[in-house]
Amino acid sequence: MGNYKYITNRVLLNKAGEEKGSIAVMVPKDTGVAKFRYRCPECGHNETGEKEWKRPFSVKCSGCGLLIRLPRLMSQLKKEKKAGRA
Ligand SMILES: [Zn+2]
Repeated sequence: MGNYKYITNRVLLNKAGEEKGSIAVMVPKDTGVAKFRYRCPECGHNETGEKEWKRPFSVKCSGCGLLIRLPRLMSQLKKEKKAGRA
């Protein structure tokens, strides 16, 4: 650890507001390319991949085409800081 400039893990809600999916993103300091892993809240598709890191970060579900955005939640900032320090 310590080689990432950004790490996060978020719960994703489907259109009915249920916590059916998740997304994890890790950005190594050396490459700056985000490694992501998601479970689509709409279709349950799982995928991992890499993509240029930029805000706002989003990936398109290759199962159903849903645009999955990384939510910015104030309540999760603490966790992110913790992850960055670890
Ligand atoms: Zn999907």
